[in-house]
Amino acid sequence: MADRYRSILLFGPPGVGKGTQGKLLGSIPGFFHLATGEMFRGMDKDSTLGKEVVSYSSRGELVPDELTVRLWQQHVKGLIENGTYAPARDVLVLDGIPRSVTQAQALDDKLDVLAIIHLTCPDIDEMVQRMKGRALKEGRKDDADENVIRRRFEVYDAETSPVLGHYDAALINDIDGVGKPARVLRDVLAIVAPLHDDSFENPLG
Ligand code: ADP
Repeated sequence: MADRYRSILLFGPPGVGKGTQGKLLGSIPGFFHLATGEMFRGMDKDSTLGKEVVSYSSRGELVPDELTVRLWQQHVKGLIENGTYAPARDVLVLDGIPRSVTQAQALDDKLDVLAIIHLTCPDIDEMVQRMKGRALKEGRKDDADENVIRRRFEVYDAETSPVLGHYDAALINDIDGVGKPARVLRDVLAIVAPLHDDSFENPLG
């Protein structure tokens, strides 16, 4: 167990609020938010790998599993080396990975999954509206195009939602993602805070 990263997985369809909740949790000492979408968007777009990533993300397709897992591992290693993320201190809040069953399998020996927060929203139109708002605010091209958005929902249903079946059902917590971020956060914290009590090392001793 000790060599696996203690992790909480944020799970749910595009636009459901994983990033918002992940950022909020990541602002609490002892949690570290890591979003693969942000990791990919932070890559140099002119590099060979950066171009390869954009060739998938701009179409709403998943970046290939092997490349995703490799880049993710390198990224985590870098964060540990520069001291931003300390596995003994922080619980990882993973947002956007694993996004396929193959990724989940590849990460089994890296992650000690403490809980899965499955954010749900029955109203696709609500999520599409949120994504379009985000496109305006953040200039994300993949959020601005209806066809790309539709493709991301298809990919979620076909490739990402089966990931839930990979994990012990007892780990999965369905949380209603509809409503204001503070209300959703309250429900997320009801699950996450007790886990944190068990594993938190007070940095002040
Ligand atoms: P959203 O939160 O709207 O689902 P993200 O910002 O998490 O979007 O991801 C944006 C894009 O980055 C995805 O559409 C996909 O192309 C790529 N991506 C992110 N995470 C992964 C992953 N784990 N595996 C493959 N591709 C990924």
